[in-house]
Amino acid sequence: MCFYCKCKETKQSINTHVVTTENSVIVIKDVPCLECAQCGEKYYTDEIMGKLENVVEQAKKMSGEVFVTEYNRATA
Ligand SMILES: [Zn+2]
Repeated sequence: MCFYCKCKETKQSINTHVVTTENSVIVIKDVPCLECAQCGEKYYTDEIMGKLENVVEQAKKMSGEVFVTEYNRATA
C-alpha cells in the first residue's frame, strides 16, 4: 500500500537509486521497483532494498567521487 496516498495499486517500474555520502555520490541505474499507480511514488521490495544496501556498502569502500553502476551488473 502506498505510504503517501494509501492507494493499493502499484505497477512494476525501474528507478535510478542515488546515495550521497560525505565525499561521494553513488548511482545505481535500472533498479526494479514498484510505482504507485495514483501518485507515482516509487518503492523497493525488502529484497531489492537489501541488495541495494550491499552495493552501496561496497561502493563506499572504493575511491572516487562518483560511482555509477547498473543494478543487474552490481548484484550479479
Ligand atoms: Zn501513492
